Amino acid sequence: MFFLIGLIVGSFLNVIIYRLPRGESVVRPRSHCPACEHPLSLIDLIPVLSYLFRRGRCAYCSEPISLRYPLVELLTAILFGSIYMCFGWTVHTLAGLIFTSLLVIVTFTDIEAGIIPDFITYPALVAGLILSWFTIGFQDSFVGALILGGVFLIVALISRGGMGGGDIKLGAVIGAFVGIPGILLVFVISSLLGGIWALALLISRKVGRKSAIKFGPFLALAAWMVWMYEEEIVSLYLLFHSG
Ligand SMILES: [Zn+2]
Repeated sequence: MFFLIGLIVGSFLNVIIYRLPRGESVVRPRSHCPACEHPLSLIDLIPVLSYLFRRGRCAYCSEPISLRYPLVELLTAILFGSIYMCFGWTVHTLAGLIFTSLLVIVTFTDIEAGIIPDFITYPALVAGLILSWFTIGFQDSFVGALILGGVFLIVALISRGGMGGGDIKLGAVIGAFVGIPGILLVFVISSLLGGIWALALLISRKVGRKSAIKFGPFLALAAWMVWMYEEEIVSLYLLFHSG
């Protein structure tokens, strides 16, 4: 059931991912094809299946539809399903669904438009702090938000534009959801993932030494891993270091 809910939520996240960076309203007008603006029918709105059924093209103008649409729907469905399997009917699950949705949105707005919208991060920060009363505790959440946001602010100041304002606010949101000590893991894992990616791009000569890479997706991926598997990651680390 949570897989199905994830499919439907994912299809709404797609609308947000497309419209927010363009400054369009998320609720109006009805969903339409980005190429020919033809309003979508109910069949076009069925997650994943409509994409397969139409063979990845718009039914009205045959323009190719971005693979991001079925990808986001399927991803959200899998993440929602795994959260419920881990945490069942708890506030933790509710927090996880909200956290996952915002991470999916910022990952793809950052990849496609280089933007992590305030419209998402500000309400998410409030939600994270409120939900922490029932999950990790308000103090851990508040201090986590302050430290991770603060660390990224310092990185941004030192690197002079190497890290954007959106990353700093996303850092605060992640801190509010994972708290301390989870933020330390998020910092290490996201830096590792981002570093490996930057190295791969440098070696393949896709980027120069001075170009900035998008850090949001790595931050989001690390945050989700830590939120979901913090205990497992810590025990794995201890296992390797106990000889
Ligand atoms: Zn079209």
